[in-house]
Amino acid sequence: MLFSDYHNHPQGHRDLPYTQEVLEPWAEYARKANLKDVALTDHGRYHPGINLDEFFKFRDSVKDVNFKIGIEIDNDPETSVIDYKWIEKNYDKLDFVLGSVHFIDDWAFDYAQYKDEFDKWDIDKLYTKYFDEIKKLINKGVIDGLAHLDLIKIFGHRPKNEIMSFVKDILKLIKEKNLTVEMSTAGWRKPVNELYPQDEIVKAIKKLNIPITTASDAHTAKDLGHSYDRLSEILKKYGFTQVAVFENHKMRLVSI
Ligand SMILES: [Zn+2]
Ligand SMILES: [Zn+2]
Repeated sequence: MLFSDYHNHPQGHRDLPYTQEVLEPWAEYARKANLKDVALTDHGRYHPGINLDEFFKFRDSVKDVNFKIGIEIDNDPETSVIDYKWIEKNYDKLDFVLGSVHFIDDWAFDYAQYKDEFDKWDIDKLYTKYFDEIKKLINKGVIDGLAHLDLIKIFGHRPKNEIMSFVKDILKLIKEKNLTVEMSTAGWRKPVNELYPQDEIVKAIKKLNIPITTASDAHTAKDLGHSYDRLSEILKKYGFTQVAVFENHKMRLVSI
């Protein structure tokens, strides 16, 4: 039974200050989805709105769901330097730091309005560049786990070469650094209509015994635990028996 959702955005896509009113629906929908352990991981660039005192007040008021505070850090060319500084300053108060690549240079490739940019690339060169950025992100440290590992496929652009030729070394690095990889149902709500990451990568993760987190990447509370029945079947199919949860960056594996 899946019980944890480790990628969520109470702010949605904007710098919305945390208040009890903003956070309360997340407790309500976590209960509806039968979730017991939920990490809030708003985007690094909106950190001015992440009021930790408001979060702690909320966390202490919710008795039946374990809420954790995290952040999704990425390679935003404009804000990531100050985002990392904020994390450094607040690191001991955070439970979980999720790492993502959302940019190729200054191109926010996962935005539908900039989709045409894909046509300017040799797709294998783009995949190579994307996974180079993932490698840089990992080597910067700070993160506890990786979000949507193959996000570059979001609009259905597939490499000519076998996917594992791009990912193999990345998975080794993830294993070496003892990081988690997220199983994200968000891919099913995007044009690619596929779990992040795709089957071949999921299989390799299992083989390497890399710990996983489960996540919906909800930008609205009602998406908490989205498509978890479907995710549960996939995890069963590939033989996963545990998921990772975090408290103050300390990983614990729990049976599912
Ligand atoms: Zn993301
Ligand atoms: Zn996200």
